[in-house]
Amino acid sequence: MRADFRSAYGHAATVVGRAPGRVNLIGEHTDYNAGLCLPLALPHATYAALARRDDGRVRIASRQAAEPWEGSVDALGAGSVSGWASYAAGVLWALREAGQDVPGVDVFIDSTVPLGAGLSSSAALECSVAVALTDLLGLDPTPRVRRELVAACMRAETEVAGAPTGGMDQTVSMLAEAGAALLIDFEDHSTRAVPLAPEDAGLALLVTDTRVSHALVDGGYASRRQDCEAAADQLGVASLRHADLAAVEGLGDERVRRRARHVVTEIQRVRESVAAIEAADWQELGRQFLASHVSMREDFEISCAELDTVVQTAVEAGAVGARMTGGGFGGSAISLVPLDRLDAVMRAVDTAFVAAGHRPPAHLRAEPSAAADVVAGGRPDPDTT
Ligand code: ADP
Ligand code: MG
Repeated sequence: MRADFRSAYGHAATVVGRAPGRVNLIGEHTDYNAGLCLPLALPHATYAALARRDDGRVRIASRQAAEPWEGSVDALGAGSVSGWASYAAGVLWALREAGQDVPGVDVFIDSTVPLGAGLSSSAALECSVAVALTDLLGLDPTPRVRRELVAACMRAETEVAGAPTGGMDQTVSMLAEAGAALLIDFEDHSTRAVPLAPEDAGLALLVTDTRVSHALVDGGYASRRQDCEAAADQLGVASLRHADLAAVEGLGDERVRRRARHVVTEIQRVRESVAAIEAADWQELGRQFLASHVSMREDFEISCAELDTVVQTAVEAGAVGARMTGGGFGGSAISLVPLDRLDAVMRAVDTAFVAAGHRPPAHLRAEPSAAADVVAGGRPDPDTT
């Protein structure tokens, strides 16, 4: 990708940042309810090659986007950039707002994270730019700096790209550890690595991208968030983190009650899942996956036919458990599958999609990978993986 940078801009990149996409094991729509979630960083990542400019101009191009963007670093802000480049330009703006002396830059992006698949290509894009820029500014990516970058990337996504985000994606992309899932507590934003090695028990985590774009149903996220806020208000708690299930069952509005029930039970399922992983009780993790899926299908109503097909088919073909993952309305599902059933599960899901008339899905293995960092060579080979 250093070659792509050079052919786009006619000079060499000085730094390449790499930031992973993520898949959430469990804990959906809990981030904005001060709850818990348990994502892991994927081996799939976004790479940002950068070089400083002295004239205050900003140029951003991506191998995954037709249109490059160009502007001035002084004029960046909400409303000044639209489309895909707002995720990258937003990071420059947010770090400026945070007091950093951000110069003009040339940026070239390349990624192995599928876009819009619920695997957080957006946060991977933001975080890849953020770590590369940190290097350009001569800052060490200490844990404290990483937390500041998380905040800047969240501001980029909400305030410049205009997409609501609860912070799970940026947090795991910046703070994950290889070989572990990351337990995030949104009450105090603390994190804890939870070692995760299902292969030791002959199991794998399989992610299936339904290739249904969750971006198609934009209002769904906002209305779920409103229902959660309404429930917390009616219960007199600061957030649903502090609601108990008995009180939730007494809520008057049937829909608000179901939304709140999902959040409260999902937070508990994250706790149970961490305990199951630490006890290497994979059957129990599978049960938590399935209970989470039912909760999202029935109570939170964010599943769709394709996601339900993956979950049902995977389990019938031998998965220990499966659930939709991410914000919902499409995107991906995650299954816990015995290694000797992996091919059978993938084939069964593919066949079920054909039978139901859905577009063919895409599968990938989720192996817990490292957080964002600068890399020496950039993306290893742009045309594979
Ligand atoms: P997800 O984060 O689940 O992939 P989002 O809708 O949050 O889905 O973000 C996807 C959007 O982020 C894309 O439509 C595009 O605007 C932007 N994006 C992400 N990665 C890239 C990339 N490599 N090149 C260009 N744009 C990207
Ligand atoms: Mg996203």
